[in-house]
Amino acid sequence: MHTPQSTNLDALRDQAFMDAVARESGQDLKSCYQCGNCTAGCAYSHDYDIPVHQVLRLVQLGQKERALSCRSIWLCATCQACTTRCPNNIQVATVMDVLRHMARRAGHAPERLVKSFTDSFLASVARHGRIFEVGLAAVFALKSGKPLQDACLGPAMLLRGKLALLPHEPSAQAKAEVAGIFERYRAQVGKEGAQ
Ligand code: SF4
Ligand code: SF4
Repeated sequence: MHTPQSTNLDALRDQAFMDAVARESGQDLKSCYQCGNCTAGCAYSHDYDIPVHQVLRLVQLGQKERALSCRSIWLCATCQACTTRCPNNIQVATVMDVLRHMARRAGHAPERLVKSFTDSFLASVARHGRIFEVGLAAVFALKSGKPLQDACLGPAMLLRGKLALLPHEPSAQAKAEVAGIFERYRAQVGKEGAQ
């Protein structure tokens, strides 16, 4: 007799993962009843491999590997549309953010271009105290391997004053505050790495 194949979800259930997501996001995912409102409002659903309500379902079921290895968490734009649509006031975008951080800490390969952009963005803020758009665009273009992809947009944006050729110079206090944020982040990551 043919026995249908099934997945034993209980065997894959990771309680420590469920607790960590709840702790880091501050959200009680037990109240999610899978209505799908978050997915219905997500402009990126068509590019996701797993719709956002199902990502939350994976967390509810403690399916750590599937949740942390999905593409969707890297493509989420943190636009908050899902959060505003949730009838149970779940901060869905925050959960996606937490999963992205967890995936990176756990060594899951992120979407290459997303990682390149994020790294370039943070490097620009760390260096200049705020974003320097032209520098960011140049570094990202090189890292992405498509140096001329958006080059045609540059002159028009410069002419309209949307871009500055030189970095803005923030006040010393603003620079010190931004540097403090990076220091606190590195200290936190160091603490977690030592645990
Ligand atoms: S909108 Fe809220 S309750 Fe509905 S599926 Fe999404 S997270 Fe769950
Ligand atoms: S925050 Fe992310 S998951 Fe939520 S609607 Fe926006 S892109 Fe979709």
